[in-house]
Amino acid sequence: MIIYDYVIIGTGVAGLNAARLIPFDKKVLIVCKQSPWECNTFWAQGGVVRARDKDDIPIHIQDTMEAGAYLNDIKAVTLLSEKSIDVVDDLINNGFQFDKNAKGELAFTKEAAHSRSRILHADGDATGRELHMFLLENCPHEIVTASIVIDLLIKDDVCHGVHILQNRKDKMIYAHNTIIASGGVGSIYKYHTNSITISGDIQGICVEKGMNLRDMEMIQFHPTVFVDNKNARQQLLTEALRGEGAIVEDENGYPFLKDYHKDCELAPRDVVSRAIFDYNKKTGSQVYLSFNKFKKNEFKKRFPNIYKNLKDVGFDLPFERVPISPAFHYSMGGIEVDLDSKVLGFKNLYAVGEVSSTGVHGANRLASNSLLEGLVFSDLAVKKALNTDFKIDAKNYPSDIKYFTLAKPQDKAIKNALRNIMWKNVGIVRVRQDLIDSLEEIESYLKEDIGRLLYLRLLTAKSIIEGAIDRKVSIGAHFIKDK
Ligand SMILES: Cc1cc2nc3c(=O)[nH]c(=O)nc-3n(C[C@H](O)[C@H](O)[C@H](O)COP(=O)(O)OP(=O)(O)OC[C@H]3O[C@@H](n4cnc5c(N)ncnc54)[C@H](O)[C@@H]3O)c2cc1C
Repeated sequence: MIIYDYVIIGTGVAGLNAARLIPFDKKVLIVCKQSPWECNTFWAQGGVVRARDKDDIPIHIQDTMEAGAYLNDIKAVTLLSEKSIDVVDDLINNGFQFDKNAKGELAFTKEAAHSRSRILHADGDATGRELHMFLLENCPHEIVTASIVIDLLIKDDVCHGVHILQNRKDKMIYAHNTIIASGGVGSIYKYHTNSITISGDIQGICVEKGMNLRDMEMIQFHPTVFVDNKNARQQLLTEALRGEGAIVEDENGYPFLKDYHKDCELAPRDVVSRAIFDYNKKTGSQVYLSFNKFKKNEFKKRFPNIYKNLKDVGFDLPFERVPISPAFHYSMGGIEVDLDSKVLGFKNLYAVGEVSSTGVHGANRLASNSLLEGLVFSDLAVKKALNTDFKIDAKNYPSDIKYFTLAKPQDKAIKNALRNIMWKNVGIVRVRQDLIDSLEEIESYLKEDIGRLLYLRLLTAKSIIEGAIDRKVSIGAHFIKDK
């Protein structure tokens, strides 16, 4: 039987960057649910933060803490910012091309709640796609696709690898180190910007095993999403548009964000999302993103993919405005880890990227800090694991392996009900009694005869709702009312 040195769950920025940094002579297996590019990383538009220079580090830290409503862990934020220059420069030195300005210098842009232009982008608004392609091309290890992790092989404080279903066949993958890089929870919400593979499965496994999840109630809703299509995954209109002059307005062209926050379009995401939600509720007006300040050729060059995607559905940008709504975007909470991204209480289990809670984001993520978090903390995790060189022992393999049915016929109706509950009751504005009722409904679904993946989604949803009920005071992305 093969024992791998490392098994990595996920082929987004966090998983692939970890793989890139593990030497070729190690035996590594990377697993992903569908194809490698079905991940949130592929869809990222705006960019990656890199502190401009040493003097910018304290300012980036301050911006991150302020956006996170100071619920962040200052040590994690400091690490993120201090390492941002090295990890981004390492990509550049290894051949990754960020966009440059007319003088041939790196073209830094600004997004909401950043006090300086410090975001790098690639192919205009396709940073995620370019970064993902680069990481795939530079991946020295084997990737297996269509492999769904349905359990972690845990005994005491050691993870012995993963239990996967591959073409409906059960396989145990044993490994000395396991790195979870399985992303967020988007698919448990009715409207979201995420890839279809992102449904909080591994967070559900952690709940089942009694592992610590932190800040799960901290859910970021992206304010400017074009939600006018039949799919759950919706077209995001990047923050960089507002950073460079796009305006949120009502049906009559009134730029109402000025009535909510002094920074208007550049206020933090939670503030803008709540303002749009509130204005729409109060006035009934459809909300739009308008691009009057842009010239056509400049817009096409800077945002080529948004230009094309919206042209395909009948909008002539920048001349026409686009109807928008907030939608689920990002999970700030996750599996609690230390500053090496090691899961608390485990010897050889790591969690990196959106699935983890490093403490970097607090109550609200600062735009473009998440690709950076994936890069920085995968680097730290790999360094720690290589130094520790932990070995599992076949004598201690867990003997209680369970076999599951992935999905059952009745799952679809419950899955849709769950997505509606989360959208309606665990969204931008939460009402305590609605949360309590939702928890009861989830508990009752958990008792039904359902497939493994739905069971895990329900456990993840339960952890979000319990977190929301426990957090009595509104802070950052968590806004709670009694009625
Ligand atoms: C539309 C959009 C735009 C964004 N723009 C930006 C931006 O400009 N800048 C920024 O910093 N952030 C942005 N974000 C957020 C950022 O893209 C993500 O937070 C980040 O890419 C997450 O990376 P990750 O490696 O943690 O997970 P992902 O890239 O989501 O990868 C998760 C991987 O885990 C696998 N997986 C999941 N469950 C299982 C399972 N049970 N078994 C096996 N495999 C599994 C998936 O198949 C996938 O390969 C954006 C997000 C979206 C959706």
